[in-house]
Amino acid sequence: MLQLDSHPTGRHFLQIPGPSPVPDRILRAMSLPTIDHRGPEFGALGRQVLGGIRKIFKTQHPVIIYPASGTGAWEAALSNTLSPGDHVLMYETGHFASLWQKMATRLGISTEFLAFDGTDDELPQAPGWRRGVQAELIEARLRKDTGKKIKAVCVVHNETSTGVTSDIASVRRAIDAAGHPALLMVDSISGLASADFRHDEWGVDVTISGSQKGLMLPPGISFNAISPRALEAMKSARLPRAFWAWDEIVEMNKDGYWPYTPNTNLLYGLSEALDMILDEGLDNVFARHQRWAAGVRAAVNAWGLPIQCADPAVYSPVLTGVITPEGVDADAVRRLIHQRFDLSLGTGLGKLKGRMFRMGHLGDSNDLTLVAMVAGVEMGLKLSGVKLAGSGVQASMDYFAGHVAPAALQKAA
Ligand code: PLP
Repeated sequence: MLQLDSHPTGRHFLQIPGPSPVPDRILRAMSLPTIDHRGPEFGALGRQVLGGIRKIFKTQHPVIIYPASGTGAWEAALSNTLSPGDHVLMYETGHFASLWQKMATRLGISTEFLAFDGTDDELPQAPGWRRGVQAELIEARLRKDTGKKIKAVCVVHNETSTGVTSDIASVRRAIDAAGHPALLMVDSISGLASADFRHDEWGVDVTISGSQKGLMLPPGISFNAISPRALEAMKSARLPRAFWAWDEIVEMNKDGYWPYTPNTNLLYGLSEALDMILDEGLDNVFARHQRWAAGVRAAVNAWGLPIQCADPAVYSPVLTGVITPEGVDADAVRRLIHQRFDLSLGTGLGKLKGRMFRMGHLGDSNDLTLVAMVAGVEMGLKLSGVKLAGSGVQASMDYFAGHVAPAALQKAA
């Protein structure tokens, strides 16, 4: 049996931006006995989760569920729609956008990486990692592509490495304004079920997501929501694919089954998560995360530390990135907070290593778990010698006390 000796009492504070804390209700649902994945009970479960998940993506079209992490679903999106040597336009919002671009290159796709064209005094090494996608750059590039060589535009909806969201509807408008036929592929691995997302309305062709963020499940399943245009593109796409191939899965999913052994107990968990999220209502879920994010940002502002996202219009509702002062190793602060207060924070990834940490506000959380997170961070920063302008704990408490949660309002009514 695994021993977690460093966490002797109470619950660990898992405040990384995914995997997120899993509600007990979901853990209990997942503890049901594993059943025959070809038997009659399974078909009912399969049909239920395949139907329910479409409501979360806001799509009328098929959503594939893979027994894989999000990285697998990235590969599935590319390999089902593209051919070797195809040219795609990707946008550098941060570390995950960079990893996706690296994967596309490894698959034999020719990639072009657009990036923010400005500068940033606070973080000169990564100015584009503080902002969302600028749709006008995409439109300008597509207008120049008179031969329609660009087969897809790939963007990340909620960049988990930075705490910045991007306006996906504006990317669709840019593609349409340029009169370009490129497919739109969106990574909403950490955005789905926390931040507003509309697969059909925003004209997304493939949306990629994962279980371990807004859906509040453990890691292990991931998704491709696919438009009719993406299904059409599949027919002529020549990148090799077998396990990831949509055609067989879509066919068998019609009856609630898979061509291979699916992740039965995670699907129990998904069924419970869908009940929880749809009972609360997606709009309430989004408002809840916005409010949590505002309460956490109030703390960062009170400390006088810069928020990674430099554009308030695109603050992430899922996580907040905090830049540490020059000379303060953000990872050393994180380590100290973990050792002393049993609280896990997200590390700075790629170009941001050591310069920032990430505070997650998603999953099975509430106002008080977030105030506790803020308290742990505040103590850790002080112990690390960081001079704080004021009390973040007080600022968070004031925010949460002063802004009644939408669900609490409903209960009172
Ligand atoms: N894309 C984004 C935005 C992510 O946040 C992550 C993981 O955190 C991934 C892709 C990769 O997903 P996974 O780690 O589940 O393979």
